[in-house]
This record gives sequence, C-alpha cells and structure tokens, in this order.
Amino acid sequence: MTTSVKILHMAENGRTVKVSIGKKDFTTPTRAVTHRELEKFSYLVANHVSRQDFASVDSPPCEVQETVLDFHDSDVAALTSRNEVLGQRTYAISSRNRNGNSRIKICNILLRSQNEAIPDRAIEFMTIMQIKPRCLDIVTVPDPNYRHADPDMLLAAIDTAQKTLNGYGFDYLPIMPHLDLATQPVALQARLRALIDAGCNCIAFRYRPYAYASMAKVADTLSDKDIWTHLSDVQKKLPSSPILPQIHIMPYFSFDTISSYKYPPGVRASRQPEEVLPIVAERSDPGGGRGGIVRSDDGQVVTPIQDSRRTLENETRFDSSALGFLTRRQHRQLLGESLNCNCFLCRGMDIDGFYDEYGMIDGRPARAKLRLHQEVHEIYASHSEFKLVQERLKDCSYTDYLWEKPVVQRYTTSIPGINGQSRLDRFSQSSA
Ligand SMILES: [Zn+2]
Repeated sequence: MTTSVKILHMAENGRTVKVSIGKKDFTTPTRAVTHRELEKFSYLVANHVSRQDFASVDSPPCEVQETVLDFHDSDVAALTSRNEVLGQRTYAISSRNRNGNSRIKICNILLRSQNEAIPDRAIEFMTIMQIKPRCLDIVTVPDPNYRHADPDMLLAAIDTAQKTLNGYGFDYLPIMPHLDLATQPVALQARLRALIDAGCNCIAFRYRPYAYASMAKVADTLSDKDIWTHLSDVQKKLPSSPILPQIHIMPYFSFDTISSYKYPPGVRASRQPEEVLPIVAERSDPGGGRGGIVRSDDGQVVTPIQDSRRTLENETRFDSSALGFLTRRQHRQLLGESLNCNCFLCRGMDIDGFYDEYGMIDGRPARAKLRLHQEVHEIYASHSEFKLVQERLKDCSYTDYLWEKPVVQRYTTSIPGINGQSRLDRFSQSSA
C-alpha cells in the first residue's frame, strides 16, 4: 500500500500535513475518533435517547478511526500462551471496524502496566492479531520497554513485525511504531532519530499528562519531517486546567492526528459496566435507590437522580469559540445564549435548550444522559474546530488563534512555551 506524507505548511508553532494511505487521504491537524466514541454515537442515534430521531445522521466525519485494546502484563503473556486470547482480540478488532470504511483504521495497543518488557513472541502475535481481521490500514508496534534508554529493542520489535507481515503476505501494510511520552526526552529523541534513519513515515505516541518536555522533543525532531505523528489517549482535561481541552493544544507540538481515550483507573476494560448503564439506571430507578450503583466513565459512582439535581449545573460542555469546557453559567457569562455549533445535536438550539433537551428524563435532571450528548457533540465540534486550525496554520496565525480563545488566555502559564514565545526558542533555551 502506498503511503505518502507531505508537509503542506510549516508555521512557527505547528504545521499542516497531507497523509495518503492507499486510496484514502486527509489533511492535518485533525481529530481522530476512537471505537468507544463511535459506540457512544451509535448508542445515541440507535436508541432514541433523545426525543428527536437521529437515525439518519452521518457518523462523525473524523478521518482516522482508532480501536483501543487494553493490555496488562498478564494479557501480554496470555496472548502467546492461551489459544482463545488471540481469537478474542482479533474478534474485538474486527467487530469494532465493521463501519467507517472511508476512515484510516488503526489499532492502539494500550499497555496498562508495563512492568516487564514485551517479548519478541508477543510482538509477533500482536502483529498477527492486527492482520487477521483484514480491516486495518496500518499495523502498530508498541515500544517493548519505554524505560530502556536505547532504541535497539524498538527497532528489533519493528523488525519482528515486518518479518511477520512478510511471512503472512501482508508486507504491503505500513508499520507505525507506538512510543510512550513517558519515555525520558533524551531516550525519546534517540528513538525518533533511529526511526527517521530507518525511513519510517508514521509514528504514534501515547499521551502523558504534563509530558511537555517530551512533546517539545517530538516537535523539535519531527516538525520539519514528512512523518505523520499520531497522538493517542489524550486526557481531555487536566486537574490544573480543568476547562482547557488538551486535545486542542496538541497541534502546537506538531501532532497531526489526535485522539482521546480514558477508562476508570483500576477497572479492567473487560469488566467495565456498559457505558449506557447510567442512563438505564436513571430511567429505571427514578427514586435514586441504592440498588443500581453504577460508575460514570471517569470512575465516579453515579447515584441516579439524588445528586444530579444539584450537580447538573457543574456539568461542562465543550465550546469551540471559547475553546473550553464550560458550565451552563460560564457559557452564559462568556458567550451568551448561542451555542456556536452546527452539529446535529446543537443545530437550532440555545444553551438552555441543550440542557433541557438532553439533560432531563421525565422532568428530572439526568446527568449521564447529558454527558452522553455532550461527548457526542464534542466529537463533531472538536473535529470542525480542527478544520479552522488548519486554516490558521496555513496563514501562520495559529499562536494568535490560541491567544484569541478566552479559556486558553486563562491557562497560558500552564503550557510551556505558549506564553507568546516560540515553543522551539523556549525549549532550546531551557535545554542549553
Ligand atoms: Zn454541537
């Protein structure tokens, strides 16, 4: 499969790139969508969660679709030692990629507890797991040990993956190494240089909160290279800047495609309650009894109805004109009644209409229902905001764009280099 990556515009802070893989292509920066987000969208439109009929709505226009597979150390070992595990993982990839054929489909092998290096045999099985469903456009290869200083283990893993692809007749599939931003900046840079030397033209990264030094290394090393950089697992909000959407700051560090994924800490993915459970509970248990304790997707226990009347006002909605997650009150103070969004959920609505339509069941506040609608809205609003970012990068006004956003202005000090100074200048000074 022919892959080509070409920088279209280089700005002082950020860039636009054209990525072509086979017959599919797209321009960056853009927001990728995860299988979890697509499941939420499908649930919303298929189950008439709202009173309106959304059955004919097009799924999110994102150009990259990411299937996230959680792996603990024990899962890595089981992949090569238990027959059924490979089949289960293959089935998960295949079932999550039945739709969305216009998108570039990739897999994110998310290593939850990397206490041990991934053995070569597991890399081989992870490669087989990705080619068997015949639906992915790229094969990702995780860094076997992000704590290791040298790139040799990573290069050996890529070699194993390539040999596996050749052996199974899938040598046309591109390989995308998946590095971890928890890697120390110097070790990360060594890996990037080795990958450049090896002719690699797509590299994925796992987001880590506050890893700005590693992000700056990525920007320093790759911003002028024709290499597609994908950033996965971005935490939407950080405790120090809870209303600033992290996804939208990442083009500043030359990340081309960006996705967000999170599940409650300590809860195994396979044992998670269905995302939809809180809504069912709100519906079936209007008295807020203790029988149906469920967890929201950030791990907090949702006690239906009892606390939601009080907390609905604290629920935030992504607004692209402010570039922030705002409560209803903040939205009104900052932006008035208008929603500034043309997605299928917001069209023709004002802020009160949104909360009333999507945040109530039978006249009672329903927090999980509101969150579901907010999250689906955010995929669309965030994706179209990235289209604007592409324009601002083309005319070299991306830093101005960030400064125009009220929420970014408030949090500039939390982002190194963004405070009116060039990112590259800032980091070359601090590393000198
Ligand atoms: Zn919207």
